Amino acid sequence: MAETKRTFIRAGLLLDGNGGTPLPRPVVVVEGDRITDVLTGELPGGVDGAVVDLGGATLMPGMWDVHSHITGTRGYSAADSIVTPHDLMVLRAAEDCRKMLHAGITSTRDCGSTIALSLARAIKEGVIPGPNIWACGRIVTQTGGHGDTHFLPIAVVQESPDSMARLADGPDECRRAVREMLRLGADFIKTATSGGVGSEKSHPLEERYTPPEIEAITSEAHRFGRRVASHAQGAPGVKNAIRNGVDTIEHGYYIDDECIGLMLDRGTFYVPTIALLDVFKASVKRPLDMPPWRLRKQLECMEVMEKSFVRAYEAGVRIATGPDYFGAPMRAHGDNADEVIAMVRYGMRPADAIVATTRTSAECVGVERDYGTVEKGKVADMIAIKGNPLDDIGLVKAGIRFVMKGGRVFRRD
Ligand SMILES: [Zn+2]
Repeated sequence: MAETKRTFIRAGLLLDGNGGTPLPRPVVVVEGDRITDVLTGELPGGVDGAVVDLGGATLMPGMWDVHSHITGTRGYSAADSIVTPHDLMVLRAAEDCRKMLHAGITSTRDCGSTIALSLARAIKEGVIPGPNIWACGRIVTQTGGHGDTHFLPIAVVQESPDSMARLADGPDECRRAVREMLRLGADFIKTATSGGVGSEKSHPLEERYTPPEIEAITSEAHRFGRRVASHAQGAPGVKNAIRNGVDTIEHGYYIDDECIGLMLDRGTFYVPTIALLDVFKASVKRPLDMPPWRLRKQLECMEVMEKSFVRAYEAGVRIATGPDYFGAPMRAHGDNADEVIAMVRYGMRPADAIVATTRTSAECVGVERDYGTVEKGKVADMIAIKGNPLDDIGLVKAGIRFVMKGGRVFRRD
């Protein structure tokens, strides 16, 4: 009988993703795509298998980005993605997947992209390198809601292969839109219960979707075992979302104590996309091709984002990492770990930021049985960093030296 080949991975330190004391001199045993043991000290005598010696590097679970848009976009003008040939968008998106994996992002939840569903398949088939992708297809959003491109004819928004929106109004059509996404193979459903910075004629503080519409979306998704993520920036949209069954709140720039109380009560995950605060600050001096309405709303949000993030963190809300990058300058794929760095800059302990981008992110997607930590039985998604990110969180970007996904080595410097 053929035996599965074992690989022994040695490093200087292990952060297993659970946030406990780092384990010195770990030896992680990998067979096939799984971790079959986590040891410490010397290699067991007479080992049969390959040895990967990472020296003094810190080994940890592959990082997650639970709020990406792998769309092939390269600018801020929404019309750009409509006039760029779809094939070109796909090729750029494939390159973005490679960059993410190279940067140590072994898993991502794509929060709106028509391409991501096929990218996920291509990566599974081994056609292109990239992270594991959990995708939603299009964003189920109301006419004039966030994700709709307000200055284009509705037919263009509905029919363009690269439009992010599936416009749906009224509970029945919302239910149908959810079924359409499930028919395409969506792993979860993305909706939008507030206006947004990135859509022209809406504001973060305005509600989008009525409670019965939100309830229709979440009940239909839950019936099929899928979670619902909602773009919700202002408090009214956050509260409507949580009260009507949404599982993860995206952005939450203007959350108040009531929002935090609701998240704690219901176990809702919070994806603060706090790296965008740095992007918004930088864009004051470097607006690139951002339209004036976007710049104006970014300025408004900058005043509240840090406070909301710190409040939720201190209250103990479950926080996962996703920077909401889509490929434009300052929001480029490959820089996704900016979110981990920003979380620490705005007050999170480095050890908590590592847990947020590993275990908590896997929990946010609902796949913690297989992913998110370096433990016996888990999928062998691991990275190694030169130095210790607990001492210098910037190393989650600058220090990546080794990337393994599903037991396969994709990078070793
Ligand atoms: Zn987004």
